[in-house]
Amino acid sequence: MGNILLIEDEIGIARSLELPLQQTYGHSLTHCLTLAEAMRTWEKGSFDAILLDLNLPDGNGIDFCRTVRRSGDATPILILTARRDEVDRILGLELGADDYIVKPFSPREVGARIHAILRRRNWDIQPEKDPVIRHCGIVINENRREVTVHERLVSLTKTEYRLLVALIKRPGRVYTRDNLVDMVWDGNFVTDRVVDSVVSRLRRKLGKMASGEKWIKTVHGIGYAMTDCHEG
Ligand code: CA
Repeated sequence: MGNILLIEDEIGIARSLELPLQQTYGHSLTHCLTLAEAMRTWEKGSFDAILLDLNLPDGNGIDFCRTVRRSGDATPILILTARRDEVDRILGLELGADDYIVKPFSPREVGARIHAILRRRNWDIQPEKDPVIRHCGIVINENRREVTVHERLVSLTKTEYRLLVALIKRPGRVYTRDNLVDMVWDGNFVTDRVVDSVVSRLRRKLGKMASGEKWIKTVHGIGYAMTDCHEG
């Protein structure tokens, strides 16, 4: 886990990186919108990696890269660029950047690159080692209480989360509403309607399986079951 400096003037891109880098990879992130802000932050702070956009409102990221290297600072720099042409890529690398990544990118890709950079430098960082429950495209990290569906982070309430965990441990097994009340609500009095509405909220948050099926199927007259996985 590292201390990352992100220099990016597009708020949308910065936002898309914030949550995954912090929660999934456990990095701490400092975000700067301009070159001037980045210079001030870099002078004061100490970072394990720098994510650098080139096209900034008050100048070019290349200048920042040059300044960092001239000072003798060897912090790994990962260039974020929308320019697809090779020249700029090579230029970035000649200036002492460690790697580049072309926009649009997925947060996961950026996370993996940072991980690779830090590992190359023999930083002692731990990959995701928490035990996880996997079912088709759903991954649940119980230690972090984190759910992703096809790599998208899904935010669930405590009840929705408990319901999902209860169902996913035995895919295909049909549970009555009473079974679910015991497992999820610890047997407290809950009407069928409440169970049904939590199921439907959970379904909405999970979206559809790659096959187009619902993750949680209704077994008429009985209850609910986690749909079996038919995906490779
Ligand atoms: Ca930019």
